[in-house]
Amino acid sequence: MERKQFELGDIVQMKKQHPCGTNEMEIIRMGMDIRMKCVGCKHSVLVPRAKFEKNMRKVLRSALESEQQGGPDLQ
Ligand SMILES: [Zn+2]
Repeated sequence: MERKQFELGDIVQMKKQHPCGTNEMEIIRMGMDIRMKCVGCKHSVLVPRAKFEKNMRKVLRSALESEQQGGPDLQ
């Protein structure tokens, strides 16, 4: 299993949708807990890091502009 990588400011896709119907979140604080903000409704949530890693599907947009990613990620 590969360890998931994410950084402050990244937009990530979660496995579970937020009640507003969006599953994209922006990481706004990292520590023992991760604070993330819903891209759809701007609500922020605090989740333990382990839970966050489990619920995160992938990083959609890296804060460092996807230089190192040449994937087929053109929406
Ligand atoms: Zn939301």
